[in-house]
Amino acid sequence: MSNTGRRPLRVAVVGAGIGGCAAALLLHRDGHDVTVVEQPAADRPHGAGLMVQQLGQQVLEHLGLLEKLIIVSAVVTGVDGEARSGRPVMRFDYGDVLPGAYGLGVHRGRLRGALAEAVTDAGIAQTTATVTGSRVDSTNRTLLINGGREQLGAFDLVVGADGTNSVVRRDAGLTRRDHPYPWGAVWSVVDDPEGISGDKLVQRYDGTRVTLGFLPVGSGQSTIFWSAQVDQLADLCAKPERLIALAEPHAGERATLVHRVLGSGLLPAYYRDVVARSACAPHLALIGDAAHATSPQLGSGASMALADAWTLATMLRRHAHLDNALDAYAVERRAHVRYYRWLSRMLTPVFQSRIAPLGPIRDRAIPLAQRVPFVQRQMVTMLAGVRTSPFGTWSLPQ
Ligand SMILES: Cc1cc2nc3c(=O)[nH]c(=O)nc-3n(C[C@H](O)[C@H](O)[C@H](O)COP(=O)(O)OP(=O)(O)OC[C@H]3O[C@@H](n4cnc5c(N)ncnc54)[C@H](O)[C@@H]3O)c2cc1C
Repeated sequence: MSNTGRRPLRVAVVGAGIGGCAAALLLHRDGHDVTVVEQPAADRPHGAGLMVQQLGQQVLEHLGLLEKLIIVSAVVTGVDGEARSGRPVMRFDYGDVLPGAYGLGVHRGRLRGALAEAVTDAGIAQTTATVTGSRVDSTNRTLLINGGREQLGAFDLVVGADGTNSVVRRDAGLTRRDHPYPWGAVWSVVDDPEGISGDKLVQRYDGTRVTLGFLPVGSGQSTIFWSAQVDQLADLCAKPERLIALAEPHAGERATLVHRVLGSGLLPAYYRDVVARSACAPHLALIGDAAHATSPQLGSGASMALADAWTLATMLRRHAHLDNALDAYAVERRAHVRYYRWLSRMLTPVFQSRIAPLGPIRDRAIPLAQRVPFVQRQMVTMLAGVRTSPFGTWSLPQ
């Protein structure tokens, strides 16, 4: 692939996360002059295990990273969600509907590490600085760094890939909505050399207040999630023995894994519902959580960030004029992003809320609905990351 038909763009990618690294690699491949700007490494873990869905796997494959990641990750064949009563609530295999499909359970640090390593191997310029905003004129955009005291640039295009709390989005006045969810989760990555968590995303529910999740992430490890209201997260992280007491009754044969949080510790996860006015502005594109953070009910955030990066690079190849390419990027992603945002908002209270009546309704309605092949197909393809509506699907533009 090469950037034919126009001069290479000077591009700054703000944020070397999942979307930012993918965008940097794809734009560099197309001949653009890319600089990645990442804030100084804080002493923070790179996050829980997550699922890369079929859509995100396709981008990783194009980047030549999928095989490498499969070796250190877990192939997740389906979802096994069960109520406290033992009644199956949501149970399916990806392969029942999409032959050969699977989710990739991966430690976020390994995914991010593989992408970051590829950025370094490709010789892409990298700068360590905290971006505090940007300034645009008619020909380019300049980044403000280090409290706005210094400038970086100028760039033809700034890619805001700085995650949920994006300063690039905020500073450019592109935030339409940015609301915290009242519920989050505590999580831990525990050793699981015995493979106790199996090859499925396992979730145990008790009403809408309890969700305990186990996700195999490969390399002899699993991630445990426990849903809780945000004002309880710090306390649970400080007292893992309390989490064990709460979670053990729901864990069944996976109780051994729950006990291992004593060794691995617990960390909080907070979710936000972010809507951008637009995914683009002059000399600026937003990708990933910066453009559309949601709660992780659908396990689609990483795959969406990868899909954004792919689409942006494709539109820059397709359109000679930058403004047209950015508009085309925003339009191409709109329906897909909107549907997943809507689904996340609709589903989150069904699994994480104080609306008690939703629990029994969910436990009866989902298994019944799943008997209908159309609904089963909706659920699997929704998780695979490809729907724009019950009747429409989205795939990576070529
Ligand atoms: C508990 C939990 C479970 C999840 N489970 C899943 C799942 O199963 N599947 C899934 O697909 N997604 C999941 N997600 C969501 C997923 O992690 C995100 O959607 C994904 O990481 C978004 O990628 P991103 O590149 O947009 O942002 P990030 O990966 O967050 O990267 C942002 C980068 O920008 C950098 N940065 C931030 N601010 C600045 C600044 N001012 N200057 C310079 N650099 C900056 C950060 O350091 C970071 O490197 C989960 C999230 C949580 C919290």
